[in-house]
Amino acid sequence: VVLHPTAEILARYEQVRSGLRRVKQRPGTVAHVDEPARTRDGVEIELLANIDLPEELDLYADSGARGIGLYRSEFLYMETDPRLPSEDDHLQMYRRLLDAAAPHPAMIRTYDLGGRKLAREMMESTEDNPVLGLRGIRLTLARPQIFHTQLRGLLRAGAGRDLWIMAPMVSRVEEVRALRAELTAVAGALAAEGVPHAQDCKVGIMIEIPAAAIVADLFAREADFFAVGTNDLIQYSLAVDRNNQHVADLYEPLHPAILRMLRFVAAEGRKAGIPVSLCGEMGGDARLTPLLVGLGLRRLSAHPRSLQRLRRVVAELDAERLVELADRCCGLATAAEVEELLRREEEPSQVLSA
Ligand code: PEP
Ligand code: MG
Repeated sequence: VVLHPTAEILARYEQVRSGLRRVKQRPGTVAHVDEPARTRDGVEIELLANIDLPEELDLYADSGARGIGLYRSEFLYMETDPRLPSEDDHLQMYRRLLDAAAPHPAMIRTYDLGGRKLAREMMESTEDNPVLGLRGIRLTLARPQIFHTQLRGLLRAGAGRDLWIMAPMVSRVEEVRALRAELTAVAGALAAEGVPHAQDCKVGIMIEIPAAAIVADLFAREADFFAVGTNDLIQYSLAVDRNNQHVADLYEPLHPAILRMLRFVAAEGRKAGIPVSLCGEMGGDARLTPLLVGLGLRRLSAHPRSLQRLRRVVAELDAERLVELADRCCGLATAAEVEELLRREEEPSQVLSA
């Protein structure tokens, strides 16, 4: 919500709205929601759902999503606030998610608390710069007891289900190894107690810190999958606080640095044979779908309400030819130039005949 918007801000959002309207009104052959979304040239684009609140699971069934691409587990904490979720709270919620997503996977993110997301029970002192502080995987690894409660709930819920666990705010390979070590310890304890638990869940990471994007090849040897969090990747790459209105103009998803990172991460994931999804806000913006497909992304996760529109746009794309458009975008100097090129090429039919 922008209070008292200036004429400039109004004009910008008007532009966004008319872009969305054009996408919405475009006729298109829409594959039945039970079918995977496919481009015109037959490339499958997996559309997954981001779920924050349990009520959103009601939208999941009709969305055509092929799995849950992001569950932000800190929302569970917000629901049980003022106490931390118990093992049973974790178990019940994750079972619901996994059952809703079946036969497809549910990617459940471990707590992304810290930063701006309050976690009184977990923080011992305040930080001058919390967004660069004990946040995400850093905080959970520093609070093993609390983390074990979550991991026990996760592993128990994953028994016989397709569970993909992912860690937020990963900047170092050591963090992936530490997460695996914690999971091994928790699984060992559950086995000793005779409690059923997941035997072969996938362990992946959010790519949302530039360091992780730049060495995606190294992370691809350690992680089973990547989920690109563009909301933070933009914030940390461009050094622009995602919640600070004074620098909102500088928060540019189309900055060539971001596009090149996305292209690189997608390529390294493909080389290593691991799935790469994009679950930040960019993934739900239908105007950007041609670009994301051209950059090599094959899995997009967004709010369930956005998926129909994405499906419609995907059906009109020619993935092969969009590689060239994406490469041209990566070679431009400014986000404004990228935006202009995308606008010119907006009608996929024009892209096809270009
Ligand atoms: C992101 O950073 O893009 C993301 C999906 O995570 P969150 O918005 O929860 O930080
Ligand atoms: Mg994030």
